[in-house]
Amino acid sequence: MHLTASPGLSTAPLASEPAGTREKVVAGAVVVLSLALGAMALPYAKVPLAAFAAFIPIYVTALVIFDLVTAVLLLGHYRALKSVGLLVLGGVYLFNATAIAAYALIFPGLFAPTGLLGSGPQTSSALYMLWHAGYPLGLVAYVLARRRDARGPARPSGGRALRAVAATAALVLALVAAFTAFATAGHEWLPVFMDDNQTTSVGKAFLIGIWLLSFGALMVLLWSRPHSLLDIWLMVALCVWLLDLALAAVLNAGRYDLGWYLGRIYGLVSAGVLLIVLLGENARHHTRLRALTTALQSANETLWRSSMQDGLTELANRRAFDMHLAEHLALAQRHRRPLALVLLDVDHFKSYNDAYGHQLGDECLKAIARVLQAHGKRPSDLAARYGGEEFALVLPETDSVGAMHIAAAAQAAVAGLSIAHRECSTGAVVSISTGIAAMRGDEALTPQDMIAMADKALYQAKDAGRNRIVLLDAAGLS
Ligand code: GH3
Ligand code: MG
Ligand code: MG
Repeated sequence: MHLTASPGLSTAPLASEPAGTREKVVAGAVVVLSLALGAMALPYAKVPLAAFAAFIPIYVTALVIFDLVTAVLLLGHYRALKSVGLLVLGGVYLFNATAIAAYALIFPGLFAPTGLLGSGPQTSSALYMLWHAGYPLGLVAYVLARRRDARGPARPSGGRALRAVAATAALVLALVAAFTAFATAGHEWLPVFMDDNQTTSVGKAFLIGIWLLSFGALMVLLWSRPHSLLDIWLMVALCVWLLDLALAAVLNAGRYDLGWYLGRIYGLVSAGVLLIVLLGENARHHTRLRALTTALQSANETLWRSSMQDGLTELANRRAFDMHLAEHLALAQRHRRPLALVLLDVDHFKSYNDAYGHQLGDECLKAIARVLQAHGKRPSDLAARYGGEEFALVLPETDSVGAMHIAAAAQAAVAGLSIAHRECSTGAVVSISTGIAAMRGDEALTPQDMIAMADKALYQAKDAGRNRIVLLDAAGLS
């Protein structure tokens, strides 16, 4: 059994595996690159660019798909691993997808000139605020849930885990629907965030507040050690998210300037980071699963072999013998074909042990086993250790003449081993006595009948002076 040495399928690699140096370096490089690009673009953040109308639908569609797939993957991981942290994080990404979908629905000019659902001029900005405040708050909730996981997973049953996923989805949808209803039906109560594509000072104050909230969430994540692989990539997503907010909402002037466009691209990167890591993780799982399946298959084969093999002689054991005899006897009777069962017993083996010791006795049994193995040559022949110093040969498609021939050859080969036995009545070397039960194919014999018949023949061989072969057929079974 080599199961412990097999490539293990760790239970929660992404969520609980501590991040290695390589992952930290790659994550750090992504952050540094993003920061450098952001710093270079900063002086031009307010430069107005052409209003590319298709940009927003493309952008929001990509974001909804990214966040939705991320949510599905995270919730799938939750169902497998039962970690509450994953449930909350899945909920957070589902919230993002839903809030962005609502944002797209009411965005002016996307589905209707003034947005759908009877929205007002500030409704889309309000949903943008909800989405951007909800994400960092959700990440803080994730950190808290993860601390609960650290005390030991709740391990709900499969059905309860599915209900937890459904409840989380319902809660998220209800939250976004309620806020959207408020921001559309009650839009006259909303503060003025935007004035003709320009962010107002109230809007700026909200955005700075959201930026600080996101920064706070990053600090909470940084502070809550140890960091899993998932935490590391969440921090990367948050860093890029902060750059998105800074460029596209705080440091730019309004819609369709360079900061706004670049920020949106950061937004895509931020949403894509976790998705790429999760998809990579899925691919890793498949590779591990394949390796584990191969290891399990070979362990199964080893187990099967050891359950069918005699440990000392490596011949088939009694269980394999019983199965083989029953199967081939039934086949022989169905097709009316002959079958022979040969039982062989070492002569005076007790005195051999007494004279030479058990270890040499074992070596003697192994040598005889090798001889017998060599004498059952056909694929359906079976040489087995029947018990103690008794062996058996199951010989399908073999009549009494053939069985006699094989038994005589085996007996001669055992004698040819010339294993000295000074206490033997048959000569100076180890010999065997053999009983053969032969069936023509038309007798209604059970495996027990065949064994009884071979045993009787063997007894007669012993009785007649040992080192000889006696053959019986159905007529001889009285
Ligand atoms: P007979 O000629 O009538 O068969 O005499 P015997 O001594 O061979 O028969 P008996 O059944 O009295 O003794 C069988 C001996 O085989 C007793 C036991 O110690 C020995 N034996 C059985 N299994 C093993 C084994 O795995 N290793 C060794 N060394 N001896 C074994
Ligand atoms: Mg015996
Ligand atoms: Mg014996």
